[in-house]
Amino acid sequence: MRLPLVRVTVLVALFWVAGCATSPAPTSPEPHSVLLVSIDGLPASALARGNTPNLDRLATEGVRAEWMNPSYPVLTFPNHFTLVTGLRPDRHGIIHNSMRDDAVGGFRVADKAAGADARWWQGEPIWNTAEKAGLRTAIWAWPGNAAPINGLRPTRSVPYSPEISSADRADQVAGWLTEPVSTRPRFAALYIERVDNVGHDKGPEAPETLAAIREVDAAIGRIVRTLDAQNLRASTDIVVVSDHGMAPVTPDRYIAIEDMATIEQAEAVSTGQVIGFNPRAGHEAATAKRLLGRHDHYECWRKQDLPARWHYGAHPRVPAIICQFDEGWNGLPAEQLARVPTDRLNHGSHGYDNALPSMRAVFVAAGPSFRHGATLPAFDNVDVYPLLAELLGITPAHNDGSTDVFAPALTPRTDAAH
Ligand code: AMP
Ligand code: ZN
Ligand code: ZN
Repeated sequence: MRLPLVRVTVLVALFWVAGCATSPAPTSPEPHSVLLVSIDGLPASALARGNTPNLDRLATEGVRAEWMNPSYPVLTFPNHFTLVTGLRPDRHGIIHNSMRDDAVGGFRVADKAAGADARWWQGEPIWNTAEKAGLRTAIWAWPGNAAPINGLRPTRSVPYSPEISSADRADQVAGWLTEPVSTRPRFAALYIERVDNVGHDKGPEAPETLAAIREVDAAIGRIVRTLDAQNLRASTDIVVVSDHGMAPVTPDRYIAIEDMATIEQAEAVSTGQVIGFNPRAGHEAATAKRLLGRHDHYECWRKQDLPARWHYGAHPRVPAIICQFDEGWNGLPAEQLARVPTDRLNHGSHGYDNALPSMRAVFVAAGPSFRHGATLPAFDNVDVYPLLAELLGITPAHNDGSTDVFAPALTPRTDAAH
């Protein structure tokens, strides 16, 4: 692992040397800040198709990955916490959006109390690594930001607030990053769920979803313009990621989970695309016989037998049997399938095998630490946390990632302080 060194804003220096500065350089060096933005559910294939002019410009000015591999399971909370800890879900404890822990209870994405309960969130998020190093952080609704993990909270933390538009969130975060140095965060993060919501509802290629992508791209454009107007681009690294892509779903691709294993046989801890079953006492053998192996649209394993490439199954919270649905298929309770009209079922889903092209996530980054116009080969999203630590010049906590893949995309560094 490379030593965490502090970067200088070499682009400004180079412009001076070349005598071609297009905007006045700051008279005093600005402290270096890092912004991490997540566009929930933005597929890697959504870039460079005319819907993301701001992201495409960032990629041209900086770097992009061909794609980024999400971690397993390909769900929002596990992947968001992987992005900020560098740990796979099996190691940071957010092993699903819906889970159970004998000592802690039940976890659901919408359960505010669980979100704020530090016992669920294992590992060290980047905001804690930064705060421990004396850097101020400000986090807009990133999963985990409500919990005092290891007793620490970000300096500023906005709760998940779906009623606030993407543009308003962007303006708030841009406001943070342009505050006077005395209060400005050195690390900020922003979470935006709009593309995921519409993608589920309408499907990944629907006009409404493409409009949502344009809307969120425009919000990122607002941040870039505000930084530009304050001459802070040369001291701000912007890293834009998504947690996963989205696959199309048709209404005939839903299966009742009770048809997989009966309620008497096993408890389904989660529904959707990755279904965890815990066999009930006395029903272990019958449940295993019924579930394990290949079925028409899904496959089930004991947790200890899951494919090694998923790095999943060791955490005590992972249910005894995991059933993974094939791309485009979903498992829901029979009652829900009977109640929800066919046209109201989701037309898009994620949660499928993380090797599928439809699940590929986005990585785009620009700023003083990044070279112009580099395209990186695909990498796993565990690499983002050590990258953020390197950008911030701080020592990362132990993690499952590496910064090696970024080496060709990073500008030369020095240990000179900003
Ligand atoms: P999923 O698509 O099931 O993986 O979950 C993602 C959805 O969870 C997003 O589209 C948001 O609507 C929602 N969400 C994200 N963060 C939170 C949060 N902190 N509290 C409640 N809901 C959230
Ligand atoms: Zn998501
Ligand atoms: Zn989603």
